[in-house]
Amino acid sequence: MKIPHRLNLTEEQLPTQWYNLRADMKEQPDPMLNPVTFQPIRTEELYPIFCEELAAQETNCSTQWFDIPDEVMEIYKAYRPSPLNRAYDLERYLKTPAHIYFKFEGNNTSGSHKLNSAVAQAYYAKKQGLTSLTTETGAGQWGTALAEACAYFGMDLTVYMVKGSYEQKPYRREIIRTFGANVIPSPSNTTKVGQAILAANPDTSGSLGCAISEAIEKATSTQGCRYVLGSVLNQVVLHQSIIGLEAKRAMEMLGEYPDIVIGCAGGGSNLAGLIAPFMQDKLLGKKNPHFIAVEPASCPSLTRGRYAYDYCDTGKVTPLARMYTLGSGFIPSKNHAGGLRYHGMSPIISKLYHDGWLDEARAVEQTHVFDAAVTFAKVETILPAPESSHAIRVAIDEAIKCRETGEAKTILFGLTGTGYFDMAAYSAYNEGKMTDYIPTDEDLEPGFASLPKIPGIQE
Ligand SMILES: *Cc1c(COP(=O)(O)O)cnc(C)c1O
Repeated sequence: MKIPHRLNLTEEQLPTQWYNLRADMKEQPDPMLNPVTFQPIRTEELYPIFCEELAAQETNCSTQWFDIPDEVMEIYKAYRPSPLNRAYDLERYLKTPAHIYFKFEGNNTSGSHKLNSAVAQAYYAKKQGLTSLTTETGAGQWGTALAEACAYFGMDLTVYMVKGSYEQKPYRREIIRTFGANVIPSPSNTTKVGQAILAANPDTSGSLGCAISEAIEKATSTQGCRYVLGSVLNQVVLHQSIIGLEAKRAMEMLGEYPDIVIGCAGGGSNLAGLIAPFMQDKLLGKKNPHFIAVEPASCPSLTRGRYAYDYCDTGKVTPLARMYTLGSGFIPSKNHAGGLRYHGMSPIISKLYHDGWLDEARAVEQTHVFDAAVTFAKVETILPAPESSHAIRVAIDEAIKCRETGEAKTILFGLTGTGYFDMAAYSAYNEGKMTDYIPTDEDLEPGFASLPKIPGIQE
């Protein structure tokens, strides 16, 4: 059979359930801890932050499949199934015998996979009778996705946008406002934690962790309001499993199975979603694909972080999660343009990596990432997001290895989004002004020093 350039499942073939990877893990991620008592958190304790169904999903390690609600399926059908593409042109360009596939999540207005979870989170909040949500956004994709979802379900939304992005990405900010959300540059004077951060550091360009603290404070101090987060959490990993489920089904129809699965990793949600059903095969001893997480050398949580309990935010108000982390006090270098700048990593991904199920993590430098992005754009005619281009980089590297060894491996990577709002970064690259930054061990020390001390657990 000649494999088509692009396979779209039909609407009827869209998965109707999300897959919960935890149900098949040999060992569970360590439980989240209450940040005051340091006891494992109970589902009810999450209710002030998350709506009830999402809190239940967050702590559920045993239910293997969750039905996707009809209302969520309705919007999924507007932009899913997403295509699985065979990168024939890239293969020819690289003269590789490898079969390269990518699952493309950029075909919706938000421009990334984040809509998959935004829709679910807005729906459950609406169903509970809540009226508003808060969140943070860094590069802006999550804010856009959630603004779309909130507009659809008629929820009010306040987005704390990292100040640096707010200033550098006016059009991204404007899309979020167009969908009806209120966008506030973070740190701001609208919260106590924002005021404190500004007092200590008036010129700060902000960070994701700081914006999270503000969004949580706003949610917990507003009637009928909850906080939602676009990555890292177990519930987000669950929703993103739709990516892998579709990809696996499409590959099965083509008679293919990946030898290597590659995803970029910021908070780990697209990676976890993409690998989910393939990881299930590995956990159940059916198949043995090689999994690679790709992260920026300037924010290397998996490759150089500690596997430790840490706060998910700079303000230290969230529950503690055990994950690979650079410390909630870590602030990435200013010249880092490529996204994926969160200090921690999904506890599920962290545990799988720690236990050796996720085979490999690679840190790549941003000029090499943009080399790959531009090559890909030219031959495949898709402008990739810088984040996604981390996965492209490693897919190309692996395909070149196949050229050298003559092995025709099947490679699958996640193309998480498009790069239309990242033209400042592309411009720096095109003008030869982009530089690489690899933190020294000393640079990482202050972040590690910010890790919490927990009596009896983490001294
Ligand atoms: C947010 C984002 C990522 C990183 O988030 P994960 O939770 O690690 O998946 C990757 N690519 C794009 C396009 C994004 O918007």
